Amino acid sequence: MPLYICTACGTQYPESAKAPVQCAICEEERQYVPPRGQTWTTLEALSQSHMNGFHEYDTGLIGIGSQPSFAIGQRALLIRTDGGNVLWDCIATLDAATVNMIKGLGGLKAIAISHPHFYTTMVEWARAFDCPIHLNAADRDWILREDGAIRLWQGDTFKLWDGVTLVRCGGHFPGGTVMHWAGGADGRGIVCAGDILTVATDRKWLSFMRSYPNFIPLSAREVEHISKALAPFRFDMIYGHYFDRVIAKDAKRVLEKSVARYVAAVNGTRGY
Ligand SMILES: [Zn+2]
Ligand SMILES: [Zn+2]
Repeated sequence: MPLYICTACGTQYPESAKAPVQCAICEEERQYVPPRGQTWTTLEALSQSHMNGFHEYDTGLIGIGSQPSFAIGQRALLIRTDGGNVLWDCIATLDAATVNMIKGLGGLKAIAISHPHFYTTMVEWARAFDCPIHLNAADRDWILREDGAIRLWQGDTFKLWDGVTLVRCGGHFPGGTVMHWAGGADGRGIVCAGDILTVATDRKWLSFMRSYPNFIPLSAREVEHISKALAPFRFDMIYGHYFDRVIAKDAKRVLEKSVARYVAAVNGTRGY
């Protein structure tokens, strides 16, 4: 039986003879059902119309995204360390070329995902590379295709290996997670942010939302919590969730001033 994938958000559902009536992710206020209505595809059908593009940002850091763009349009990141490779965030499209190329680079030791909008076909990826998927337990209700590869972690941080740490920031989702890699950017440190911290269009600032498509902001307290969660970590760059959304330098200071700007805006204390 087919495993249907929502074309609006990329979430893959368990085997079913008929497509689901609704997508739980898209029916909720943080996503949306397109005006044309809900439509579905499968991984097999997607492999006829889409492929994956790769972009090497830096040593040990490769972006992977669907070409042409599919569903939300995020790209994943492959982080390569001596101890093994981790896939940060996930994309729906997974084809033979992608599997063979990543296996050629040493395969995957783990998958870690920022929040439910990017769970997509994570179970397919875990099976292709025989690796676990690390998700924050606070978002467990949004796991729509259960699998033995899924490992739920609790609390505020979860160390992988070689200076790679998952950090729960909350905000957009209660379990909203970013990944810190101390060895990234030649040892200056990077944060892979998904859209838990969103790199703004000017690439100079960050912003934070409960719902991006429906413009629902977070509270000052929730956004201040994000900066507290990242306070113990050193980093100079932030990789957002699209190929071209990167804070190229001074990212720690960018986070601090962006949180201050956000809090002043929602509290009505902006000085102009
Ligand atoms: Zn959906
Ligand atoms: Zn999201």
